[in-house]
Amino acid sequence: MKGTFPLDKFGSLETPFYFYDTELLRRTLSAVKAESARHSNFIVHYAVKANANTKLLNIIREAGFGADCVSGGEIEAAIKAGFPPQSIVFAGVGKNDREIELALDKNIFCFNVESVPELHVINELAGSKGKTANIALRINPNIGAHTHANITTGLAENKFGIAMSDMMPTIECAKHLKNVRLVGLHFHIGSQILDMGDFTALCNRINQLLTQLEQSRIAIEHINVGGGLGIDYQHPNRVAVPDFKAYFDTFAKHLNLRESHKVHFELGRSIVGQCGTLVTKVLYVKQGTAKQFAIVDAGMTDLIRPALYHAYHKIENISSDGPAEPYDVVGPICESSDVFAKQAEINKCHRGDLIAIRSAGAYGEIMASQYNCRRLPQGYTTEDLV
Ligand SMILES: *Cc1c(COP(=O)(O)O)cnc(C)c1O
Repeated sequence: MKGTFPLDKFGSLETPFYFYDTELLRRTLSAVKAESARHSNFIVHYAVKANANTKLLNIIREAGFGADCVSGGEIEAAIKAGFPPQSIVFAGVGKNDREIELALDKNIFCFNVESVPELHVINELAGSKGKTANIALRINPNIGAHTHANITTGLAENKFGIAMSDMMPTIECAKHLKNVRLVGLHFHIGSQILDMGDFTALCNRINQLLTQLEQSRIAIEHINVGGGLGIDYQHPNRVAVPDFKAYFDTFAKHLNLRESHKVHFELGRSIVGQCGTLVTKVLYVKQGTAKQFAIVDAGMTDLIRPALYHAYHKIENISSDGPAEPYDVVGPICESSDVFAKQAEINKCHRGDLIAIRSAGAYGEIMASQYNCRRLPQGYTTEDLV
């Protein structure tokens, strides 16, 4: 196990830091490419919000994927990393005018529009620049993904997208706007989805909506099914690369596509999740009355997922061969929720031991904050440490 980390190099680095295994990232990208390429009309975008580390963005761009952005800052980061503007899709319920203007100036491929007022603003800003913006309507398909309540996005109660019953009126409205061109529909039902049945349900819903469009003689070319494929947080070594075959095959099998249709995917977590590890040092081992604590130098400011979503991350003591013992692994932040794991069975801890918090490549470094006036964690790749 320890063999997978360049431990000799870790010793000289200030903790906590993120370590990215770029060999695994490249292997993951190859799998995405191979499995998506089996379907001629599938196009993959990387969801930049999962991790915008420059070195990772460059590797992902080299693999030939487009970018899915949810802010102007992400559009800038994607373009800086060399993603072609024509490969960029832009989603988000609250795009501000500056971000819309930036996207128009850069000539991105498509805006995923989430409301009628947004449609009007894009039309107006595009008009003032003498441009026509490609738009896809983000439809809320009212499908509950079997995932954590805070990361399901496709239910009627969620803030995202346009209700199915509003789809036709919104299309009617778009028709009368001169500076927007409807090119597609967009969906995204949530994240960390491992049940392919959820994606099948999405396909069935999309088929219904496509039938409805055909009946009204409305032609669209692009169907964007969003992202959401999950990773195996329990077994980061055994299942290092997600089952992209099952994922893409689900859409190929269940979507009723026409010749002209292109299917877009926006994968974030499944691409970068497993290649990242948060490496932290044991500051103190504290014996409580009922349990023992391993107090580490990383906190919820470095990796917020456990505090925010009660997310599980596998934790390993990579400095010790001692017998496994139960520890509450906690950070130094002044919040009771600053806990990475309760009663984690890890090798006996001593001050100075390095602890690996696995599967932290997605929604880790990018969500770091400076609460408590802390430094942001650094991110190193395999190549940085040779
Ligand atoms: C977050 C997000 C994604 C990526 O989700 P993952 O679960 O990381 O694959 C894709 N599309 C949209 C619109 C998103 O908001």
